[in-house]
Amino acid sequence: MTSKLYWQDSHQIHFDARIASVATKDADLIVELDQTAFYPTGGGQPCDYGLINGIEVLNVEITDDERIFHRLKGNPGFEPGIQIKGVIDWNRRLDMLQQHSGQHILSQAFFQLYGAETKGFRIVDQATEIDLTLEAPPEEIETAIHKAEDLANQIVFSNRQVRLHEVSPEEAAKLPLRKESFIPDCVRVVEIEDFDWSPCGGTHVKRTGEIGLIAIRAWERAKRMTRVHFVCGARALREYRAAVGITDAVSRRLSVGRDEVESSLARLQDDNKKLSRRVRELAQLEANLTAERLLGAGIELNGKRVVTCSFDDKDFEDVKLIAHRLVDRESVIALLAAIEGDSVRLVFARSADVDEDINNLMKTACQSIGGKGGGKPDFAMGGGPVPEDVSNFLTSLISSGMRN
Ligand SMILES: [Zn+2]
Repeated sequence: MTSKLYWQDSHQIHFDARIASVATKDADLIVELDQTAFYPTGGGQPCDYGLINGIEVLNVEITDDERIFHRLKGNPGFEPGIQIKGVIDWNRRLDMLQQHSGQHILSQAFFQLYGAETKGFRIVDQATEIDLTLEAPPEEIETAIHKAEDLANQIVFSNRQVRLHEVSPEEAAKLPLRKESFIPDCVRVVEIEDFDWSPCGGTHVKRTGEIGLIAIRAWERAKRMTRVHFVCGARALREYRAAVGITDAVSRRLSVGRDEVESSLARLQDDNKKLSRRVRELAQLEANLTAERLLGAGIELNGKRVVTCSFDDKDFEDVKLIAHRLVDRESVIALLAAIEGDSVRLVFARSADVDEDINNLMKTACQSIGGKGGGKPDFAMGGGPVPEDVSNFLTSLISSGMRN
């Protein structure tokens, strides 16, 4: 069993220890120490990083029988029995202290205000998450979140003392532990003065002021619970900077003040909707006119009018529209193509009173250019590599496919 220096003092970053055992994993050395200030991954909190005799510590893990193993980068050839000097990466440790103590406070705030229990907790790369038994309509959850955030920050700003108690299970049972976190083999309780008592093996701040700020960044429903994402301390500052940066960039683009960004964007979206509607109307109008013009240039074949045309300046959606307008008339077959760089997109259609199988014709066309396509007997689409002469290609389909 490794003695946990981080339990007594989460602010100790330098320590001496003796190597209890060594092992190798791939090219790395795994070192067990008699005592350590390195926090091993567990209880929702990732492990500490740092150095052992100047060698980088990549990972720290604890076994069920409380032995702590440090994975070093490479193999410096350390032997059991030698004395080492360890140093903890303080920036990462401080980050973990801020998130973890912040979590205890926020969980207690949700519990005091709404009786919501914390069923899960994880510190991840960008934020910290708790899963709460908090159920309400979205607007009420928004309000609940703001109230809990306010209460949590009052506790931070009042700079309360954080005390660590090593207790027997009997002593633990007498403490006002947060219900959801009660564990029968509790040996260590973290107390946030007059606010929260939680069994916990993690590293914590000495006073709540060290957390700086607790800011909730998002929430969602997950696994029939409310998952709250929040950031504390330096993470909250980074999040604030990023948020202000984005808002400022958008407000500069819109040439309005920060407060007007939302209304300005709403206006822009509104204008955009109106413009899109107008563009659709104009596209219909243009499709009608183009269909009219193409009909005039069509070929008469067995009582049907066959229209072929290839476009290199039109969107395929517009070409489809023209095909529809053409076959709205009686006895029309439309074979249209849109050239897009090295490829061609095809749309073939026929009027309801024509019995030609357009889908068959599309398959023949696609086969001959080495492309793919299909659809219904009266409307089919396809495409492939662009043939050398698209107009000729379309006209040749009339002679090859529609002789009957
Ligand atoms: Zn904890």
